[in-house]
Amino acid sequence: MKSVILKLVLLLALAIQPANMLAAAERPNILFIFSDDHATEAISAYSGGRLNNTPNLDRIANEGMLFRNSFCANSICGPSRANILTGKHSHKNGFLNNEQMKFDGSQMTFPKLLQKNGYQTALMGKWHLVTDPTGFDKWEILPGQGNYYNPHFIQMDGTRKQRPGYCTDIVTDLALDWLSEERDPEKPFLLMCQHKAPHRNWSPAPRHYHLFDDHDLPLPATLFDNYSGRSKTLADQEMSIAKNMYWGHDMKFHGKSLFPEFFLEGIPNGEYKRMTPQQQARWDAAYEPKNQELIASMESGRMNTEEITKWKYQRYIKDYLRTVQAVDDSVGRLLDYLDATGLSENTVVIYSSDQGFYLGEHGWYDKRWMFEESLEMPFMIRWPHVIEGGTTSHAMIQNIDYAPTFLEMAGIERPSEIQGTSIMPVLKDKGRVPTDWRDAIYYTYYGERTHAVAAHDGVRTTQHKLMFFPKTREWNLFDLVADPNELRSVHADPKYADVLEALKKRYHELRKQYEVNTAVIPVSRTGEDWWQKRWQAKNKETQQGPGQLLFIGDSITQGWEGRGKATWDKYYANRYAINLGFSGDRTEHALWRLEKGNFKGVENPKVAVVMVGTNNTGHFDQDPTETAAGVTAIVEQLNSQFPKTKVLLLGVFPRGATPDDPKRKINTAINEQIAKLANQEVVEYLDISSVFLGEGGTLSKEIMPDLLHLSEEGYQRWAAAIEDKIVELGGFQKVDQATTE
Ligand code: CA
Repeated sequence: MKSVILKLVLLLALAIQPANMLAAAERPNILFIFSDDHATEAISAYSGGRLNNTPNLDRIANEGMLFRNSFCANSICGPSRANILTGKHSHKNGFLNNEQMKFDGSQMTFPKLLQKNGYQTALMGKWHLVTDPTGFDKWEILPGQGNYYNPHFIQMDGTRKQRPGYCTDIVTDLALDWLSEERDPEKPFLLMCQHKAPHRNWSPAPRHYHLFDDHDLPLPATLFDNYSGRSKTLADQEMSIAKNMYWGHDMKFHGKSLFPEFFLEGIPNGEYKRMTPQQQARWDAAYEPKNQELIASMESGRMNTEEITKWKYQRYIKDYLRTVQAVDDSVGRLLDYLDATGLSENTVVIYSSDQGFYLGEHGWYDKRWMFEESLEMPFMIRWPHVIEGGTTSHAMIQNIDYAPTFLEMAGIERPSEIQGTSIMPVLKDKGRVPTDWRDAIYYTYYGERTHAVAAHDGVRTTQHKLMFFPKTREWNLFDLVADPNELRSVHADPKYADVLEALKKRYHELRKQYEVNTAVIPVSRTGEDWWQKRWQAKNKETQQGPGQLLFIGDSITQGWEGRGKATWDKYYANRYAINLGFSGDRTEHALWRLEKGNFKGVENPKVAVVMVGTNNTGHFDQDPTETAAGVTAIVEQLNSQFPKTKVLLLGVFPRGATPDDPKRKINTAINEQIAKLANQEVVEYLDISSVFLGEGGTLSKEIMPDLLHLSEEGYQRWAAAIEDKIVELGGFQKVDQATTE
């Protein structure tokens, strides 16, 4: 009886609402079509068709809204996906790069919240976050990067199924099958249809093998960029069309590279091997005549280096665009299905891609950099009755905005941990930029070995871009209006002094707002050979054990192997001590080493001596509070990894000649904070600064020759100063100092 009354009341309430309120009360379906590495320049709605025509993708823009200033937060596959799922920057969702990360699927994501609030959720295609998807009623995903031809798919029960055909078409089939066969018409749905294309190695559908055969594509203005006038790290990258294209994998030749000085050897075309003989025959018919033509030209010596680069560009860009064409076909099939079933009316359709891509600009393929081509993401959205068709927005949006937008569409309250902003006000107001809209976005790239792009972060406003490169401590500033190709950093130009200052201020404000503290974000230096080798050697040492005394730190700790060697031998050689000092390490590197290290042989070290943080000071002038948080994270990591181990935390050693040295002051401020970490159980704090200092707090070159690193005498003083504590905490036998002095 109660429920009947309730229904009547509800009906009455609905009856008195105006018609448009009724429509708004219905929660929309969300179809999220997402590709991998799709640059806006390869969508005709964005580019005007300079390179290619994408009529189906353009339909979304023509019938909906296209965003001109749409950016990622971290320009690489896994991280961007994690940004989207969580609405948070990488340092908050934990997925910093593709090399060491696994997505923590137990955290809040928008599909989970939609599912919890009555949405039916499904995901088909590329996932690339290592752990299984969470928050989906149905999923079928490509393993890792996935393959173009006859791809395997991971099923929800963990098994793998190979499906014959072309990946983009199969993912579309899976999405359409789900819509027609498994969709619950009683519930709104979220369907994520995620393609591998146009990701490397750019393998087209057979129906597109001959697209663009009749003409060459225009060369980008910056194909022969020499990287002058910007950060010196630009020249170090390994993503250049001229130098980093593989004969087999990228350029699609068979066998060994015939011209190894121009075409890299080493990665064959794995996609070719996946094809049936019939498929291979069709492939060969398309590629081999062109390949033989190039080989003949090369052998005749008719081609100079520039012409070879241009040939590579054409091979690359044509294949890239051919894979885009199948994505466009996919979008057409999905839109047609929505139309045919009447679902279009109440379905939001979004097209986006995890980041942009270099289509030869700066001589590159790939992404990662904060330059426009890879910072941009396509974002087009169609929503009948809410978004006016054919509109363009210049509001600056970012991939962390997707989650809060979808939640608002579905009428779900946004969790406070989300860092993005819902773009609903923009969608509802013809794309106009609200007066209180963000004036800048924050971006970070955390660095990987692959392609050797240096870590950097920065801010972009509507007119300017400021980038910071921690490795070289360089700032780059670009005026995007005067220099849209970003060929000249004006950070040192006096005319831009005010702009530089204002943007630096904005940079620090945004880092504070998003709680970016690099000191607590574990990060490796495996890109540096010596570091990688030392890391491997130390892993071997800790694996063998037993390791009863650990020294964790930077070059000052590593120096026990240099100027401190005699003292080390005297005090620690018989105590199974292991030196885990790595020159140049900051707290985030030590943290990474602890998290990822092989400590198999080190079960319960008696004491861990920690002295780290001076490089956070020296390399960054990092705020002492941030560095102290990094030291805290290291102590916490040790406590959880080795619960019984006593941590002897040392105050960061003094540096600089006098107490008013700016860096000395930072270290002193760090120490004031980390001193509080001492507790009754396992953490002891000791500040031994006084043993290094002379009168009035001065540092002498006899103790620290460069006013940072210790001399032999310095190491003797260090060992002597902590000896009693080491003995007390670890139960070691005391070293008889008298006999050795
Ligand atoms: Ca990607």
